[in-house]
Amino acid sequence: MSAPIALLSVYDKSNLLDLAKGLHNAGVRLLGSGGTATKIRDAGLPIEDVSSLTKAPEMLGGRVKTLHPVVHGGILARPSLSSDAQDLATHGINPISIVVCNLYPFEDTIAKPNCSVSDAVEEIDIGGVTLLRAAAKNHERVIVLSDPKDYDEFLKEFGTKGEVNSEFKQKLALKAFEATSAYDAAISNYFRQQYASEGNGLSQRIALRYGANPHQKPAQAYVPNGTLPFKVLSGSPGYINLLDALNSYALVSELQATLSLPAATSFKHVSPAGAAIGLPLSDVEKQVFGVDDLKEELTPLACAYARARGADRMSSFGDFIALSATCDRATARIISREVSDGVIAPGFDADALEILGKKKGGKYCILQMDQNYVPPERETKMVHGVHLEQRRNDAKITDASFATIVSKNKSLPISARQDLTLALLALKYTQSNSVAYALNGTLIGLGAGQQSRIHCTRLAGSKADAFHLRFHPRVLALPFKAGTKRADKANAIDLFVGTEGVLEDEEPSVEKDAWFNLFDLEKEGNKEKVRPLSREERKAWAKGMKGVGIASDAFFPFPDNVHRARRSGAEYVAAPRGSVMDEECVKVADEYGMVVVDVGVRLFHH
Ligand code: 5GP
Repeated sequence: MSAPIALLSVYDKSNLLDLAKGLHNAGVRLLGSGGTATKIRDAGLPIEDVSSLTKAPEMLGGRVKTLHPVVHGGILARPSLSSDAQDLATHGINPISIVVCNLYPFEDTIAKPNCSVSDAVEEIDIGGVTLLRAAAKNHERVIVLSDPKDYDEFLKEFGTKGEVNSEFKQKLALKAFEATSAYDAAISNYFRQQYASEGNGLSQRIALRYGANPHQKPAQAYVPNGTLPFKVLSGSPGYINLLDALNSYALVSELQATLSLPAATSFKHVSPAGAAIGLPLSDVEKQVFGVDDLKEELTPLACAYARARGADRMSSFGDFIALSATCDRATARIISREVSDGVIAPGFDADALEILGKKKGGKYCILQMDQNYVPPERETKMVHGVHLEQRRNDAKITDASFATIVSKNKSLPISARQDLTLALLALKYTQSNSVAYALNGTLIGLGAGQQSRIHCTRLAGSKADAFHLRFHPRVLALPFKAGTKRADKANAIDLFVGTEGVLEDEEPSVEKDAWFNLFDLEKEGNKEKVRPLSREERKAWAKGMKGVGIASDAFFPFPDNVHRARRSGAEYVAAPRGSVMDEECVKVADEYGMVVVDVGVRLFHH
């Protein structure tokens, strides 16, 4: 039987001579490409040039070295097929049993300063990738060594048996496939950066100034193929802007599809600060949401954004906005008056775009989303070097989600179902744990990212309480000095309705002084108007909190959540079940006469 053949063609020549010696001692016939063969021959070991086998010299300055049927026929021939054996015999090809190859250092080359595209092009290995791929494909017969670190282990086994076990062959084949795939990914990433831009119609990637923090450079957003599903109409989105934009758009498009009404959300740090559907606003709502002085008539979309932005004005400061429908003039007018980082919508009316285009001195981030875009079924992210892959959360909230009512009270009006749908979908795009309160198509309290569920329920409940208190006649009558900025008013109201007792404190404080300074206290009656809300006033007003829907992204582990939600007017509860305390929670809800829906789906989001 003729000696087995090994083909060696390596850029990284570390451990090469030990390997060549080991192979030679095991009776293997060595073949090598130019530099590899020279190095081995210079060490006094016998090796033939690939070119002596192919009868074709290396050419085109090394671009073609091993690309030849004699080489690839020898690698790819299957042991069991007589037709393959016949082909080898006809063309005088010897089977190759071992391929040792590693590739030109493409990534090192492009990392060098001043590397030109032609420098990079020359560093694209062609034949080596083909050798690795061919050998890995035929790994049932062929051993492929793509990493010098594997030579030792290989020699230990091969040196004694003249073969390696099939598990080792599989491991080496997988490694070779990974090497070629990482190599190709580096090449396409490089050319995406060189060639893909909106200017040439290849809007597959945008460079980002930095990642989550200014020192996290470089940063980019891209799709591995096709084009990005949004267009940048103005400004330059940052990394967190895009996290907000893509999550928030997913939320509003799903809200509109589910509830058949325009929807809007105001995102901060990848969770909604507000979300709402386009139900008309009462006069008081207009005042509370800060749109009573708007000249434009409010469209349903404008109502949705007024609600989303107005529900928690403090948290929404500097938001990223998503709209489910084409942004119209009225909506743009509301946005134009607020401090905001950007907006994403499926389209913009010309006059709306003109208004928004002037924001932030023309730098306001405006993204137009492709309405027909469907994200892939699987999504991946990398954490500390480990890729995590999952099926996208494509759970839908439908009529079926409300079919299992587990409380005694089974009466779930349409409006409550609408609020619970809004709350559940908001949770689907909120960092977990999360609990949401909703009323009148508006998210009125959201507790996000807390490790304990009761803390979510309390946080969201305290926001809902503050929301409700902002409708108190004494809040509506606060006598702000003329010209007080919208954000200052929002902050002052937040302190007034808050329960930290800053204003009630007898001790003098700079914070209190600054607060009282927002009002003209010389004017008759104003001192009484700014008197802090008393406990009794708060308690009496809280009694008016009714009909609130509360949703949770996972089950309630204890009935304390139900008690707390009830204190903020919750009458409808939607959550999955699964806790040992489920029955206990429902029992408490029954005592309050609440409606509890088992939605049957957990909605964690990270
Ligand atoms: P050597 O130092 O032996 O001259 O070249 C080894 C390198 O050439 C290895 O990195 C291998 O992947 C690469 N290589 C092998 N065959 C070919 C080929 O036909 N074309 C190109 N461009 N590279 C090859």
